[in-house]
Amino acid sequence: MTSPIEAIKAKVDVVEEVGLVVALRKSGKSLQGLCPFHNERTPSFYVFPESQTWRCFGCNEGGDVFTFVEKQQGLDFRDALHYLAEKAGIAVEDFSNSNPEQERETYARKEKLRKLNEEAALWFHQVLLRAKDAAEARSYIQSRGISAESVMSFSLGYAPAGWDGLSRYLLGQGYTEYELDQAGLARPREMSKAGAVAGVDEVSREQSGGVYDYFRDRIIFPIRDIRGRVIGFGGRALGDHHPKYLNSPQTLLFEKNNVLYALDMARDAIKIAKQAIIVEGYVDAVIAHQYGTKQTVACIGSAITEKHIQQIKKLTKQVTLALDPDEAGMAATEHGIQEALKAFDKTVVPVPLSATPAGRSSKDPNNARGIIRLEERVDVDINVMQLPLGKDPDEVIRQDFAEWANAVSHPLPLLDYYFLAKTSDLDLQGPSGRTEAAKRLLPLIGMIRDRVERESYAKKLAGMTKVDEKTLLNDLQEMMKGQLSTSIIAAFSDRTGQFRSEMEPGSDLSLSATHSQSTDNFVYSERSGRSREDSRTTFGLDKRIRDRIKWEDYLIGLLLQNPKLFPHVCGIITDGDFAGTDTRELYRIFNSVYQRDASPLFQSFEQFVPSALLESVDRARKSVESRSPLEGAGLEKYAVQCATRLKRARLIQSNIELQYLVRGAEEVGNGASVQQLQQQLMDIYRQLRTIDSAMHLQG
Ligand SMILES: [Zn+2]
Repeated sequence: MTSPIEAIKAKVDVVEEVGLVVALRKSGKSLQGLCPFHNERTPSFYVFPESQTWRCFGCNEGGDVFTFVEKQQGLDFRDALHYLAEKAGIAVEDFSNSNPEQERETYARKEKLRKLNEEAALWFHQVLLRAKDAAEARSYIQSRGISAESVMSFSLGYAPAGWDGLSRYLLGQGYTEYELDQAGLARPREMSKAGAVAGVDEVSREQSGGVYDYFRDRIIFPIRDIRGRVIGFGGRALGDHHPKYLNSPQTLLFEKNNVLYALDMARDAIKIAKQAIIVEGYVDAVIAHQYGTKQTVACIGSAITEKHIQQIKKLTKQVTLALDPDEAGMAATEHGIQEALKAFDKTVVPVPLSATPAGRSSKDPNNARGIIRLEERVDVDINVMQLPLGKDPDEVIRQDFAEWANAVSHPLPLLDYYFLAKTSDLDLQGPSGRTEAAKRLLPLIGMIRDRVERESYAKKLAGMTKVDEKTLLNDLQEMMKGQLSTSIIAAFSDRTGQFRSEMEPGSDLSLSATHSQSTDNFVYSERSGRSREDSRTTFGLDKRIRDRIKWEDYLIGLLLQNPKLFPHVCGIITDGDFAGTDTRELYRIFNSVYQRDASPLFQSFEQFVPSALLESVDRARKSVESRSPLEGAGLEKYAVQCATRLKRARLIQSNIELQYLVRGAEEVGNGASVQQLQQQLMDIYRQLRTIDSAMHLQG
């Protein structure tokens, strides 16, 4: 029995899918093009039809057709699955197994709401363009500098002042009052004591039904999801109505704390610009797009939430906040920063001991054995746009585009912003104000990973507070000794007391482990010498990938059985190291469940898994159960070993691909390509050597 994922992969060709967005040129057995995920002038992006994979040797992204769709369109696994299933003409029941009947029904209801929303958006838009009583709306739009093109591309609309224009239209199209209510487009009329309907007489009730329009006398901004489907509406009052902004109520499709306005239209620009700008208002976003700053989205509702950032982080790591520069805006900015920091993954990265600030000298004998220390890093660059006081982004854009463009390309780094924001209420002339400034800023400086950068900020603080620079640096050192370890411990202490003790300063986790007796059936026979030979004979990655997936099953199974092993594994591999579409997604799900909660949940891990992947969970569990059980320290070592081998296998695959590409480039005499690829090859060799020497010394 083939899984739905395999069935999809059999039908959707990765070459075709990539070819939709990347101009591919044949290069031997592979295809070559400019990477859609980073800026480059010479192509280092390759698609391998034989293994149905792709990889960019410039930015090191890679994977299969699923990863490509996820990354390129900014979709999560479920949405990518739906998208690809649709293409393949395969019915995928992506419903969790708790209550399939109910979920199927919900899905059908959502589809109906989407259609209803589309109809409504079209109606609002037509009214704005044509209706007589929309004249005031049209002149308002003009007064805000919104062009006719923007009105079209954002499908702006107008909800007339009458009570039931939209409702009557939609009821006439065959929708029911109940559906209008569920879509948040209409509200049931309240019945008066006499049984009559408030506000209208019996006759018009007959005609219009017992509902009235939710949006009245408002400019309408249709809100779309990342795939461009209308999920709700934002309405700005034309007159002095309150509230000034009215959004769709919560519906099956719309939850205002989740949605970013214009994300569907900003998606590609965000990836190209490697930046997402968050503004506050609909008009700000429309105007920003109109003037070419298309990487702009607006948060709906007043505050930026973690869920907003979750959507952006699939597209870029740079988030620029352009909120109103008033006091409320400052508070909103601080809130946004905190949410963004929460949302971005804290990756635990292995760092060679010599690189840690409080680390031992390089003469330390342990260092030579590849012993590492784990550090936690937040993978995000948050900065703040500096706009002139009292001006909204849309005003700045229209009045002085050069100033806006400069603010876009030179946003204030987070810490510089804090230097201003955290001291704005202090008197820096007096000693108490200066002491307070140091107290507030020093901990923030201590969080900077880069030593040079850290010291330059310390210098800046010394200048500001007139404190001796050396004293400040000493304080910083002292503080960091405590902080570095506590920040890591904080992330794990709730989950595993054992891990905590290993993360204490001075004790380190070794990267590799010895072979244990019971693992002989899993010994990875490949050594670097052989891989070269293999790649010369065939390009046969197929079998290799199948072998890897067996390993991946085993590792996932191991983690499900012993979630506490996760911290030992996540410093070594990332989801990108998985060859299997399903195992990769399972690892991601595991990671997110783990970050949220501790081990008891893993009894019912299946409830977090799309049904298309349930079989794979089963396979992973069985893979572990069929082998002799491991215990205690042996188990940890084994998990580390398993992860290290997966990493190694991924590097070997890259190595083979690269050698293959070098040959191809040599054949056509493309010297520049050969040189570039060989550099990549060296890099892979280096990484492989590091892993091998660690494994060798341990084993
Ligand atoms: Zn790339």
